[in-house]
Amino acid sequence: MDFTLTPGQKTVQEKARQAAAEVKDLAFRLDREGRFPEEILKQWAEAGFFGISLPRKFGGGGQDYVCYCLAQMELAQVSPSAALILHLNHSLFGLALAQFGTLEQQRRFLPPVARGEVLTCFALTEPEAGSDPGRLQTTAVQSGREWFLTGRKNFVTSGDRARFGLVAALTDPGQGPKGISAFIVDLKTPGVKRGPVEEKMCLGGAVSTSLEFHEVRLPAESLVGELNQGLKVFLATLEGARVGAAAQAVGIGRAVLAHALDHARRREQFGQPLAQFQNIQWKLADMATELEASALLTLKAAWLKDQKRPFGVAAAMAKRFATDAAMHAALEGIQILGGYGVLKDYPLERFFRDAKAGQIYEGTNEIMRLIIARELIRGGMTGD
Ligand SMILES: Cc1cc2nc3c(=O)[nH]c(=O)nc-3n(C[C@H](O)[C@H](O)[C@H](O)COP(=O)(O)OP(=O)(O)OC[C@H]3O[C@@H](n4cnc5c(N)ncnc54)[C@H](O)[C@@H]3O)c2cc1C
Repeated sequence: MDFTLTPGQKTVQEKARQAAAEVKDLAFRLDREGRFPEEILKQWAEAGFFGISLPRKFGGGGQDYVCYCLAQMELAQVSPSAALILHLNHSLFGLALAQFGTLEQQRRFLPPVARGEVLTCFALTEPEAGSDPGRLQTTAVQSGREWFLTGRKNFVTSGDRARFGLVAALTDPGQGPKGISAFIVDLKTPGVKRGPVEEKMCLGGAVSTSLEFHEVRLPAESLVGELNQGLKVFLATLEGARVGAAAQAVGIGRAVLAHALDHARRREQFGQPLAQFQNIQWKLADMATELEASALLTLKAAWLKDQKRPFGVAAAMAKRFATDAAMHAALEGIQILGGYGVLKDYPLERFFRDAKAGQIYEGTNEIMRLIIARELIRGGMTGD
């Protein structure tokens, strides 16, 4: 066993570290002002982060998913919102097409997605279908060589400005989950209505909206993967993407730890720095240990994915553990800062709010536990 990063992985990590440092103050300011992180995304697009592990022949970097996760661990330390928007392009739209798209779809959509020239979204969740996507009600009805899409999606990240969306719809309603198909939708098509921006407590720059479809005409080439096999497309895509979500959580947790540590070293009470009090040391030690375990789980899941070995349970463990660790770190980090922890002039309250979302999106942590437990009970976890 070798825990050493390859020279290529170290290069990506270092590049991401520098790119993050360059926008640190800007990211803080944009979040305070509730603004879309356009400048940050532009810089990250120019640096090639939108396409890190998308295929080289379609404009991506052709790197492994470990590289992508190492980059996310750095980028999310300064702007979890921008890191999530990038993640939508890279892992929830781009990798879905790289795995399931036709050559024509890959040629057309992947280059601008990998270069960050267009934003994309992933529209699975509906008002009646959250953890249970089998309950979705959006339909796509075939007429000749076209499809007509009708329904409503919610919680669509980048729903306000994405150009293309990967959308789940029933193509054989009688078959329930076995009658779902995946479509690429150009969101400029007549009949698409973008809902108002949802006001949420977290991830201010990563806008969530609903999307309504009113008999939206889709050409036959919009179908991604096989007819009625869409749930497979969405679940497989989520399985990979949630390793990236775990990496974002590691980034958030590390940012919190760095701030808390810095504060504990500098702030003096009762004649000594806070870092000299044993209870503060224990908090810092627990945060560091949980984040190290999170990073290891995440990189193992990414490595399994890169090796094309089954990684669904590893992904669920990484996502569950890392997002809980980030949440715990944020709670403890605020406690270490005392009153300053809740002030908006300090970054911890933002990381606390952003960490919460990680426990919910891309499959809640309860659903992650279901995935892990199902495999345990089936006898499929042998420890190797
Ligand atoms: C910031 C953010 C961004 C998002 N971005 C997107 C996006 O881009 N695209 C998209 O499609 N969706 C997106 N989502 C939606 C997200 O995937 C859903 O919120 C999530 O899957 C949960 O669905 P729900 O909110 O309907 O909750 P529900 O499914 O109603 O769950 C409510 C609670 O019940 C629990 N629960 C549900 N079923 C079970 C069960 N079987 N066993 C135990 N507990 C259970 C859940 O864990 C949760 O705690 C986003 C959500 C957030 C918060």
